[in-house]
This record gives sequence, C-alpha cells and structure tokens, in this order.
Amino acid sequence: MLNRRAASPSLPLELVGLYDKEKYAEQQRYFAENNRFGSIVNTATILVILILLFTGLFGWLDEWTREITSDSLLWSTLLFFGILFLANELFSLPFEVYDTFVIEGRFGFNKTTPKTFIADQLKSLFVSLILGGVLLTIIVLLYGWLGHRFWVVACGVVIVFILLLNMFYSQWIVPLFNKQTPLGEGELRTEIESFAKRSGFCLDNIFVIDGSRRSTKANAYFSGLGSRKRVVLYDTLIDELTTEEIVAVLAHEIGHYKHRHTLQMLVVSVLNVFLMFYLFSWTLDNIQFAEALGGSRPSFALSLVSFSLLYTPIGLVTGVLINVLSRKNEYQADSFAGRFGLSEALVSGLKKITVKALSNLTPHPLYVKVYYSHPTLLQRIAKLYKMGKK
Ligand SMILES: [Zn+2]
Repeated sequence: MLNRRAASPSLPLELVGLYDKEKYAEQQRYFAENNRFGSIVNTATILVILILLFTGLFGWLDEWTREITSDSLLWSTLLFFGILFLANELFSLPFEVYDTFVIEGRFGFNKTTPKTFIADQLKSLFVSLILGGVLLTIIVLLYGWLGHRFWVVACGVVIVFILLLNMFYSQWIVPLFNKQTPLGEGELRTEIESFAKRSGFCLDNIFVIDGSRRSTKANAYFSGLGSRKRVVLYDTLIDELTTEEIVAVLAHEIGHYKHRHTLQMLVVSVLNVFLMFYLFSWTLDNIQFAEALGGSRPSFALSLVSFSLLYTPIGLVTGVLINVLSRKNEYQADSFAGRFGLSEALVSGLKKITVKALSNLTPHPLYVKVYYSHPTLLQRIAKLYKMGKK
C-alpha cells in the first residue's frame, strides 16, 4: 500500500524527458495493474494457507500418505511433497497465464507463444521434480540413518548441491529453455574485445541469449564460478542499446566478477542454509508441530511444513540483509564501469532499459529497503554522477 501511494503521476524532476507524457501514463497504468495483481495473488495465497491450517488438511494428507506407503518414511515424505508441489503448480498456473498473456501481453512485452509457455511449464516441472526429488530423498535417508543429528550432514549435501547448480547452471539448466551463442563478429565484438583486454576479462566467456523468444524486456547477468564464469547479454539488450551502452552494461557485469560478488553471495547462502537446517532440526520429533497442522503423531513432512511457515518472518529479515548487501554490490559494479569512463554510457543504457520495461521510478523508500535487490534508477544515477565529479 505504501508503494502504491508513493507512485507519482508526474515524472521526478531529475528524470524529466525520460518518458513522454503518454508513455509515462502507460508506465503508471502498468505499475497499478501489477500492484493490484500482486495483491490478489497474495490474498489468494494467504486464504489457501488459512483454509489448509483450519481444516487440518496437512495432517490428513500426512496420515493418508503414511497409510498407503505402509509408513515408509522415504516414500510417504516424497508422496506428501509431490502432491503439495503439484497442487501448488495447479494453483499458480492460472495466475501465470494471466500475468504472461493478459498483463504482459496488453503492454506489448509478451513474446511467449502458448506452445513455448506449455513447453516451459513442463520443462520446469520436470527439472523441479528431479532436483527437488533427489535432494529430498538424500535428506530423508540421512534423517532415517542419523536421526536428530542428521542436519549437519544434510546441510553439507545442500551446500554441495548449491555449488554444483551455481557452476553448471549455464550448461545444464539454461539450454533447456534458451539458446546461448558466443558473441558474433562485428563492431560490437571489436569494441567489447578492446574493453575485455583493458579490464582483463576473457572474451570467450561472453554469450548472447535469445531472451526475445519470451519477452521484449532487456537484461544482462553474470553467472558461474571459476572457469565456468560467463556474462550473458540478452539479444533484446543488443537491439535496443548503442555499442557504448552495451559495453558499459557489460563492464558493470564484469565488475560483479572482479569484486567476487558471486562468491560472496554463495557464502551468504551457505550461512543461510546452515541457519535454516539448525532451526529445522528443532521442529523434528516434536508432536506439537504436527498437531498444529492437524496431525496426531510426529512427522518429518509436517515438521518441514510447520518450519517453512514459521520461517517466513525470519526469512523476511534475512532477505532484507541480503538485499542490503546486493544493493551495495550493484553500486560497486556501477563504479567499476565508471572507472573505465563509462558512467555516462551506463546511465543512458540504464535509462533505456528502465523505460523499455516501464519500471517504477518512484518506489517507496521502505519498499526499496525491504524488497529491492538493486538500487533505484535515480539512486544509481546520483551515485554515478557523484563519482564522475570527483
Ligand atoms: Zn548488477
């Protein structure tokens, strides 16, 4: 609500000229629509959770899955979460369809065909079931063998899992959904080559991804560790920005690499996983966590559900801390680009990306502090200009 009230029908002074009047009115409509849609999704989600809690359906499902698997810890837990996962997918599907084809479609962002959409849904369902199933199996087996103290080992397994995903995300997961090609010959490549030399980054690690298959929105990101590192540029970014602006955006991404931000975030998620497992171990074998969900005996599955509900407010706090760190990293990557004399190009590139995506220019400051992983456009411009003056 604060964020909705902070929406300004007139452009902030510093950004006059960024949008024309019509385009800005469109941005305001887009923001209002997304905000309203978000409230509907959140309300529906809370209602479903309340219904599940008050009817004791979690407890009933736990009892049922234990009965038909003859009380096998592994199979009943897998079945329990398999059903919850599929139910959740079905619940969120209409919202996703509405978001993609109605909202994004109406504002001209959507390029996803129904065929691509269905294929995406099936592929991500498959990937989630495999990855989640394997991880859950390992965790439950460890619990079966080691009892209460399983969490230290399970924590280690999850950390290895996160490391592997981080390293192989670009090689294993992305190709299921997108094509990545090395940057082709031409002016852009020559310019990037010269920048790569100046900054000491290997050009072989720069890829172009076909983001235009799904959306007109532009983006770029850095992923991977060590020799698996790569900068990925969206083809939409290359179409929209000038060569110098692209080099500036690329410099920002290389800045993330030079400042070891991926590694830093990895350490943070490892600590986070450790905290989660430690807290989760408290809920195990405790009948009260099962009874709260309508169960009648201690249950691994019910403990995990109780834990995830109770963890939500803690997760909000850790999320705020992680966002503080992430926003600091964004400034650092910006100033890396600035050190190569690319401040102005980065500002004009960021402006184009923001306008293209109809991003909110005036979020409420508190909303930014809690939810934003990136500083706002205005904040970034202010920092870059300040740096340019020094
Ligand atoms: Zn960044």
